Amino acid sequence: MPDSSSGRSIEETCRDCGKPLSFHVGETHAVRCAECYDGFLAARDIDFLESYSQLGVTSRRIVAETCLRALVMESPPVRKVLAMQILEQYVQEAGDMIGLYYALKQRGRQPLMRAMLEFKLERETAMTFFQEVATTAPDEVLRSLGLPMPAQLKTKYPRLSKSDEHDLRLQMQQMLGDVKRIGDMGEGVMLALAQASGERRGGAAITKQSRWLDNTGLRPDQVAAISLDEGRRTVNIAAISVDEKRLENIVSAIGAMTHISSTLIYATLTALQEEAKNAP
Ligand SMILES: [Zn+2]
Repeated sequence: MPDSSSGRSIEETCRDCGKPLSFHVGETHAVRCAECYDGFLAARDIDFLESYSQLGVTSRRIVAETCLRALVMESPPVRKVLAMQILEQYVQEAGDMIGLYYALKQRGRQPLMRAMLEFKLERETAMTFFQEVATTAPDEVLRSLGLPMPAQLKTKYPRLSKSDEHDLRLQMQQMLGDVKRIGDMGEGVMLALAQASGERRGGAAITKQSRWLDNTGLRPDQVAAISLDEGRRTVNIAAISVDEKRLENIVSAIGAMTHISSTLIYATLTALQEEAKNAP
């Protein structure tokens, strides 16, 4: 008779270092010890960042731009659904970018892959982020991420090729402009915050009218997202205007955040590469 239970006991030692792993019946079997797991993730940080920067980082922008293009041709109810999708991409892109920012901030103390993948956009985290970048000098923000100002690249990384230095400097200068721009988009940020609580529970419901729920009617150019607030025992309604100009601005903000993320990754990968060159 084949022993189907043999798989249960094979992983009693760490796959990487061989240290015994204790577990109880019914628990999930760990395949490696906690220390080796950290090392396993940290060893893949650079590959993870590279891979993410090649496609993942642009995914929200791709969906949002596609929805915006499709919206022009659609009937009003469908336009609202597409508009809502654009807003969802906005919230998710903000989460991706803020997650990356906090992951880079504690680079070296925790694997980047874990910090990014486990990041959840909370109202407070988002507010802290936007306040922080709005009130902190750009050079300080960059320093907290382990990055120099664009103008310091040459002296900081003397071995960086002239063309790479030039390219990264331009990207970083543009990024600082983008950071300022998204900081100025106060309304969009508030919207993202209002929605974030619903999003985390698997997406808010979309409604065309809200009078049935709260006696407040929506304007024809508005759509609302409904989410339950179990803590306060109420229903949150976020009314969102879906006029095209505004959606264009939101898609453009998604583009700006995408550019910030990809430039942060580009700069970080360069920093890691140059730091390795200068290591004794
Ligand atoms: Zn181990």
